[in-house]
Amino acid sequence: MKRELFSVQKLVNDYLTEQYQKTRHEKKDFWRVSDMGKCLRGRYYKRLEIEPTNPPDERALRKFEAGNIFHWWLQRRIRYAASEMANVKVIGMEKEVRDDKLNVVGHYDALIQIGRMKILYDFKTVHSNAFHYRDQNKILTQKHHALQIGLYLMLLKKEHPDLSEARLLYISKDDLSVAELKVLLTPVLKKEILQELRILNQAWSRQTLPPLPPLIMKDPVKNRWVINWQAEYCTYHDLCMGQPREVWLKKAQELAEEKNKGLKSKKRKSKT
Ligand code: SF4
Repeated sequence: MKRELFSVQKLVNDYLTEQYQKTRHEKKDFWRVSDMGKCLRGRYYKRLEIEPTNPPDERALRKFEAGNIFHWWLQRRIRYAASEMANVKVIGMEKEVRDDKLNVVGHYDALIQIGRMKILYDFKTVHSNAFHYRDQNKILTQKHHALQIGLYLMLLKKEHPDLSEARLLYISKDDLSVAELKVLLTPVLKKEILQELRILNQAWSRQTLPPLPPLIMKDPVKNRWVINWQAEYCTYHDLCMGQPREVWLKKAQELAEEKNKGLKSKKRKSKT
């Protein structure tokens, strides 16, 4: 009998691949709260349960799992703190919320009560370089994260009408630095959330594909054009674009470079 070499890396990879395959085949009858702000078309395919043409590789699966591990650890710390502190209570963790009219479902990270105040938390793990750069520049909050926690807040308010505060909790993966950022459910944010769900629900009932996201987008921090992150890591590239991911990436890269050249020459002109 051939003896297989024992490899912990293989063990981890095989386990994560198996888990991914299992969850891939779970029924997806709803839009997911955690997908808010992501490509509408990709979410449509996902709900149709179409097999991804570009599934995440082993490294991507390990990155997802690393995020999960940080979530579990933080949830345990909060539970422990609540058990020790008289004025802190955990109302729920990883609890499901759904809305049958909006066709949306999700699991929030933590809802805690401090004294009389209820706070909803959504955890986001970030690479430490990005964390410290964005923290220093006060730009940690990202649009899609605000849409996600805003929707959790909307859904939870039905059961907890006194809930008014939501916080995005960014965690640096290398050194456990944490930043808590308050998100308010402003009329503008609420409108954007409902608008996104309306487009998705209309597409679903009419059985038409939702619109494509733009190839590139303007990074407000760097003030330059970059490849649209929504599409860069998409698992449906080959299906959607009818061409391999590398070709799409090259095209997007070239377009971004061209636009950035235009930006540079505008800057130069404005200086002279
Ligand atoms: S390839 Fe682009 S448009 Fe198609 S699902 Fe992916 S991100 Fe969306």
